[in-house]
Amino acid sequence: MVIKQLRKEATFVLLALLISCNQSKDKSKSDDYPISTVPFTNVQLQDNFWLPRILINTEVTIPIAFQQSEETGRIKNFEIAGGLKKGSFCSQYAFDDSDVFKIIEGASYSLMIKKNPELEAYLDSLIYKISLAQEDDGYLYTNRTIMGDSALEMAGKSRWVNESEHSHELYNAGHLYEAAVAHFQATGKRTLLDVAIKNANLINKEFGWGKIEKYPGHQEIEIGLVKLYRITGEKKYLDLAMFFLDVRGPGGWEYNQAHLKVIDQKEPVGHAVRAMYMFSGMADVAALTGDTAYLHAIDRIWKNVVTKKMYITGGIGQTGGNEGFGPDYDLPNMSAYCETCASIAEVFLNYRLFLLHGDAKYIDIMERVMYNAFLSGVSLSGDLFFYDNPLESAGQHERQKWFGCACCPSNISRFLPSVPGYVYAHKGDDVHINLFTESETSFETTKGKITLTQKGNYPWDGESVIRVYPEYAGNRTIYIRIPGWARNEVVPGDLYQFADQNNEPVLIRINGEKVKFEIEKGYAVLERRWQRGDSINLSLPMPVRKVIANEKVAEDRSKFILQRGPLVYCAEDKDQLENSVLHIFVEKNQEFKTGFSNEFGGEITTIEFSATEVRRKLDGSLKADDQARVIKAIPYCFWANRGPGEMITWIPSEMEAANPYPATTIAYLSKKSSSGAKESLDLIADQYDPKNSNDHSRGYIHWWPEKDTAVWVQYDFQKPETVSECWVYWFDDGPDGGCRIPAGWRILYRQGSDWKPVKNLSDYKITKDSYDLVKFEPIKTKALRLEIILQKEFSTGVHEWVAK
Ligand SMILES: [Zn+2]
Repeated sequence: MVIKQLRKEATFVLLALLISCNQSKDKSKSDDYPISTVPFTNVQLQDNFWLPRILINTEVTIPIAFQQSEETGRIKNFEIAGGLKKGSFCSQYAFDDSDVFKIIEGASYSLMIKKNPELEAYLDSLIYKISLAQEDDGYLYTNRTIMGDSALEMAGKSRWVNESEHSHELYNAGHLYEAAVAHFQATGKRTLLDVAIKNANLINKEFGWGKIEKYPGHQEIEIGLVKLYRITGEKKYLDLAMFFLDVRGPGGWEYNQAHLKVIDQKEPVGHAVRAMYMFSGMADVAALTGDTAYLHAIDRIWKNVVTKKMYITGGIGQTGGNEGFGPDYDLPNMSAYCETCASIAEVFLNYRLFLLHGDAKYIDIMERVMYNAFLSGVSLSGDLFFYDNPLESAGQHERQKWFGCACCPSNISRFLPSVPGYVYAHKGDDVHINLFTESETSFETTKGKITLTQKGNYPWDGESVIRVYPEYAGNRTIYIRIPGWARNEVVPGDLYQFADQNNEPVLIRINGEKVKFEIEKGYAVLERRWQRGDSINLSLPMPVRKVIANEKVAEDRSKFILQRGPLVYCAEDKDQLENSVLHIFVEKNQEFKTGFSNEFGGEITTIEFSATEVRRKLDGSLKADDQARVIKAIPYCFWANRGPGEMITWIPSEMEAANPYPATTIAYLSKKSSSGAKESLDLIADQYDPKNSNDHSRGYIHWWPEKDTAVWVQYDFQKPETVSECWVYWFDDGPDGGCRIPAGWRILYRQGSDWKPVKNLSDYKITKDSYDLVKFEPIKTKALRLEIILQKEFSTGVHEWVAK
């Protein structure tokens, strides 16, 4: 019922869209991506996987995102800047305007799928406020308009002075342009588009060769300007996008990719979202101008990402410190950053590379990101979000309703409605079927209109039936993507591979008859005289597969993950009898059986297998439990929908690679307390030896932002214990962080109600990257306290505190 209605309304909006596009006359028709996308407005999903998520995005996520923007002052900022209200800038960051623009973009896409007069009216009033907030010459940045000289430090003292570092004036503008184009396409109204054009004209007047020669501190305007160019046909916007790329580097920060000229960059560095937006902008400009230098750079960088820096979920950006890329093969699981925005930006880049090169390897990566790393970012209910998407958790990760920096939820709200636009593409008469999802589409080719339908139950089942209805019968090629995972290739390159070969063939039947087919650039090439009603049956074998990582990925050695179809699996404590999953390993030759669960709003495929738990003994050796137990795994994209808890993706295949239950040391069994340390105090007695003081992989406690004071952490033993030595491993996150090894420390013990210092027999050394041992005269006590004196300018943290 809903779907039928959706389809009818989408057709109406599509007509309006086609008319508006014709009016704007795309002069670059011959100089553009060689492959054309079939826009999401032409694709009606009917599936049980994406469609429910898109509907929830419309019904829950977008309203919540607007509500949060109202409650956090993001919208009030426009009202104040526009003179409708009085007051100071009332949100946290100078780039908060951009969240509102992104949600408008998402809401506009939703309107293209389904009319909603109430939402349209809300957008009208919001856009009115935005237009009032715009200064007379086109400048739009509420923080400065409201605060003038007292703008936030990040904004800088005057317009543009801090743009290449922190102000985000051009970043906000880029999101404004994307929103304006989407709103114009959805409604035909120029209200926001006029604001965007006025702003872009100001920026074009001020920036350029011989004018202000600065690059954006956070890339994004490049993509926005290209969209503005496509809709207006005004080449100056394309030229300005190119200027912002070419003016970048060398000699700037690696953090925002200004260390080198963009065309000289060889691998991704720094902030992952900035990098991916920039590469996507480069792809757009390359497609429109034929510039091969941009292309060579992004091709090289793409190869580095997928062969050395990408998680099995498709997530990118290993480290939280720079919200971005780390060294090759350094892929820690528990501290994996994998920002949701970075996944979205990665889809943008991979899809653009497909449109340029016509190779399915880009869609393989895109599919991996969409079904795993990206979808982990939003709860099934659509109202809880992850900013970072780790691959392992001890329970410290929990979905949030919103964030101070709210880039991710607003990005999700605009990405989900566009998902149907990634399913089909065409080049002349030839058609590409990229994703498998029950859907229907109609679009124009050079030989007339063609309609395609897809039936199936992907990603749970590899059987798809595609029907073809060309307006005129004639020769054309249908390219059907045969995913890498169905061709024994996990990813292009050798970062990951399947543990075993699967010899079940991919089968294609046309009108019931099995056909032989060639594979070209990852596509089955089906060339024939297609007639109305021809059917293609595609069978992609979908056994449970074990995937192993390149040996160079130290974190994943002697481990595997489970993958079935495009889905990476994880195990959560909630599905296990013992309510724990972190301490297992799986012995050789175990069977992996599929099952079903209805716990996640529809039937999903689960995987069950036997695993053994490992415990550390008091002498430090490991012991496997006598009895194995059954572990149930679910797709990673469904994790953390039942509250926080333990989760693993990479499963040890040897006892030595397991993360054992800690030994029952006196520290482990003690009751722990502290003077306000952050994170779970259990972490300091979990017996994980950090690799160095800045090891984030298993967690630590810390007192940041406290400094220049004394802090403490305390063990209360179950009974009086005799102790004579303590070992402490400090957390220190180096020059970029706020924690350092402390200025001093000592051990106190409790006698009656007093705390007394132990009589130490060795010095209290303070060392980075190793344990500090202090020996003291044996004392019998019920409680020990580690007292720490923080440095004047820095806080500190503790990885591990051993008491013997
Ligand atoms: Zn984000």
